[in-house]
Amino acid sequence: MNIDLLTPAELEQLRELINVSEKIVLCCHRSPDGDAIGSVLGWAEFLRTQGKVPVAVIPDAYPDFLQWMPGTERLLRYDKHENFANEILADADLIFCLDFNTASRTDKMAGHITEAKAKKVMIDHHLNPDMDTVMCISHPEACSTCELVFRLIWQLGCFENVTKKCAVPLYCGMMTDTGGFTYNSTRPEIFFIISQLLTKHINKDKIYRNVYNNYSEWRMRLTGYVLYQKMVVMAEHNACYFVLTREDLRRFHYIKGDAEGLVNMPLQIKGTKLSISLREDTEHDNIVWVSLRSVDDFPCNLMAEQYFNGGGHLNASGGRLECSIEEAEAIVCRAIEEFCKGR
Ligand code: 5GP
Ligand code: MN
Repeated sequence: MNIDLLTPAELEQLRELINVSEKIVLCCHRSPDGDAIGSVLGWAEFLRTQGKVPVAVIPDAYPDFLQWMPGTERLLRYDKHENFANEILADADLIFCLDFNTASRTDKMAGHITEAKAKKVMIDHHLNPDMDTVMCISHPEACSTCELVFRLIWQLGCFENVTKKCAVPLYCGMMTDTGGFTYNSTRPEIFFIISQLLTKHINKDKIYRNVYNNYSEWRMRLTGYVLYQKMVVMAEHNACYFVLTREDLRRFHYIKGDAEGLVNMPLQIKGTKLSISLREDTEHDNIVWVSLRSVDDFPCNLMAEQYFNGGGHLNASGGRLECSIEEAEAIVCRAIEEFCKGR
């Protein structure tokens, strides 16, 4: 199957950029998810097989359920080592920007990435890439950045060099960005790639369990609480939302990642097209994180842009509001009433 992404000239350009660069840095978006961490770890491991010594800098913490992935111990947390990370960014020859389309998605790293003298290469699957790069490998039709990373390695003719340590995070990122291959994953290329990754002796069932069957007791109880007490069903609009206050999070011993995926659950209700979650920031007042999920052709990214200062994919988007949690709830209700009308 032909899964090439680049023209022959682009392929040579990428090969050359990697060959001539000594100080290579990889970075991803804030609150990294499975695809962000997976693509960073997979691409870093691949570069190591090419004799490179890349440094992976991530803006902040990743969820607890990704900790098991091979190589996480080497990730450099920007929020913990800001000065050191700034030096590394300033000193880099080449920066790979993985799984984000604009520098602002890296939060405090943004200015340091933009101003770094390094050449930048974006590898991403979000709409509207907007960065000053020498190569912009942007494919919104891809299921994940991990899919793109695999296809680049494949096209570079380096699949033989792929180790299990590279294959595991790539599989994991494809899996998490498609909800375990339940959405955005019907293209045959995806299953061709999976079949190739399996030849590296990854245990896909174990990867699934590591991510999805690895919750704390508190996360499980939080799920019950959200569904029983917090979920608001706006049946006339085929929409649901729920709000998690700081007090809720404290009560359920919230740790990073514990709320991940909850927003998908209301979509299991027959006929539901849209689900929105609001989560009060655990540290800062007047910051509310918004997640949106939808089915079929309901464009939750447009809704995220219009009402929540965010964006994302057609069926999975996010954003943030700077207001109280009560005001945020009022905005969500109004957004659902306005946006869902006639859909
Ligand atoms: P989550 O609900 O997991 O935080 O975000 C879902 C998806 O929405 C992410 O994979 C990301 O692509 C997108 N997303 C989240 N927040 C933002 C944002 O502030 N801006 C944009 N453009 N996309 C976002
Ligand atoms: Mn992604």
